[in-house]
Amino acid sequence: MPKPGELTFVAPRGAKKPPRHLADLSPAERKEAVAAIGEKPFRAKQLSQHYFARYAHDPAQWTDIPAAAREKLAGELLPELMSVVRHISCDDDTTRKTLWRLHDGKLVESVLMRYPDRVTMCISSQAGCGMNCPFCATGQAGLDRNLSTAEIVHQIVDGMRALRDGEVPGGTPSGGGPARLSNIVFMGMGEPLANYKRVVGAIRRLTDPEPDGLGLSQRGITVSTVGLVPAMHRFADEGFKCRLAVSLHAPDDELRDTLVPVNTRWKVREVLDAAWEYAEKSGRRISIEYALIRDINDQAWRGDLLGRLLKGKRVHVNLIPLNPTPGSKWTASRPEDERAFVAAIAAHGVPVTVRDTRGQEIDGACGQLAATER
Ligand code: SAH
Repeated sequence: MPKPGELTFVAPRGAKKPPRHLADLSPAERKEAVAAIGEKPFRAKQLSQHYFARYAHDPAQWTDIPAAAREKLAGELLPELMSVVRHISCDDDTTRKTLWRLHDGKLVESVLMRYPDRVTMCISSQAGCGMNCPFCATGQAGLDRNLSTAEIVHQIVDGMRALRDGEVPGGTPSGGGPARLSNIVFMGMGEPLANYKRVVGAIRRLTDPEPDGLGLSQRGITVSTVGLVPAMHRFADEGFKCRLAVSLHAPDDELRDTLVPVNTRWKVREVLDAAWEYAEKSGRRISIEYALIRDINDQAWRGDLLGRLLKGKRVHVNLIPLNPTPGSKWTASRPEDERAFVAAIAAHGVPVTVRDTRGQEIDGACGQLAATER
C-alpha cells in the first residue's frame, strides 16, 4: 500500500484509460500520430489550430481539411473526452459551475468566475482526491482516478470557448459579451502534485503559444498543494513561473497532522522550506492557503505563530472562511476572531487577505466540489 501522499497511483483493476487526445501529445507526437494513420503531417498543425486557437472540436467546422479525412482524424486525435452533465450558475450568473461526466462515468467539476477586471477558472486534476482532509468535501469521497492531461486541458478549452461565445455574463451591470480567461487555479477536485506528470503536461499545453497550446501566461496559473514535498522540489526545477499555493491550515504539526493528514509524512517545516525553494527559483510569491475554522485553528496565538514562520519571506496569506461541508461539525470563524487572526499575522509585516467566497449557494466554493449526481 502506498503511504499517504506517496506519488504512486494504482489504477483500479479493469479500469479503461481515457482515450488518447491531441492535448495529451507534444507537437512532435501529434505529427507522428497523424502520419501513423496515413495523413499528411501538416494536418497535425491544422488540428491544433482548430482545437487550441478556435476551440472547435466538431469536425464539421474543419473546412480546410477534406471531409473524408475529418472523421478519421477526429476519431484518432479528438475523441470526445467528457460531456456536460449540467451547468449551475449563481452570483447573477457570473459564477458558473460545470459538472462533467468522463468516458468511464466518473464525475468532475470546474468553476468559471467572471469579475469586472478578470476571469478565473478553477479546475480539477483528479476525479476525487486521496488526501483525506476532514474539512473538504472532495476529500471525504476518496480518490477515483487521475485525470489525463487532455481531461485537465479540455475543462479550460471549453471554458475559453464559453467565454468567447458570451455564455458567461460580465461582472459589471453593463458588462457582458465575450471575455478572455486571465487566471487558472488548480483548486478544484484533486491534489495536482499527486498527478504530477499529467498536470505538468497540462501546464505546457495551456502555456505553449498558439497553435501548439492555448497561449496563456504561466503567471496566471496557480497550482495548489497539500504539501507533497518531493513533488514540490521537482516542480521547482521545471522552470515555471506559475504561482504555488500551499494549503497550510495550521502552523503547528500537532493540529496540521489532523487537518491535513499528509502532514504526518511531511512536516510544516519541510513544506515551508520546499515552498521557499520554489519562490526562489520561480521568482513568485508563495500563496499560503488557510481555511479559518471556528475554535479549531483560528486562535490569535496561531495567527501569531503563522506570522513568525512567514515573516520576511516572499509570501502572501490567503484566509478562506471555512465553507462547511454537509454534516460537518465545523464552521467558519466568528468575525471578531477572524479580525484578530488577520491582525496577528499582519503584525509581523506579512501580507494577508481574506478570500471572497464565490459560488457558495451552488456548492462551487472552496472545498465544495464533490461531484455526486443528485
Ligand atoms: N488538493 C489541493 C487543491 C484543492 S483544494 C490543495 O489542497 O491545495 C483548494 C483549496 O480549498 C485548498 O486550500 C483546500 O484546503 C481548500 N478547502 C478545501 N475544503 C475547504 C472548505 N470546506 N472550506 C474552505 N476551504 C477549503
